[in-house]
Amino acid sequence: MHMNEHPLETWNKHWVILGSRLRCRLCGASQDHTENSPFHHSLGCQFWGRQDQFPWSELAEIHRQSIQAGSSAHKDENHHPKNL
Ligand SMILES: [Zn+2]
Repeated sequence: MHMNEHPLETWNKHWVILGSRLRCRLCGASQDHTENSPFHHSLGCQFWGRQDQFPWSELAEIHRQSIQAGSSAHKDENHHPKNL
């Protein structure tokens, strides 16, 4: 487990968001954010056949956890005045 890597970085290595759709970087298959079904990868993708992937839910969970963990970090950022 890589403690230095933010979960969102790991997520971003597998997925990319294009508007309201989410795409697998490996096979290019995409899913709209309104779809609640498991992600369907293209044949030949290393994730093909997996029926337990809900990348939208994973992303929402990552955001939820980072908001809880990073609330103090955001305050620190505000200590730096933006004079530019
Ligand atoms: Zn894929």
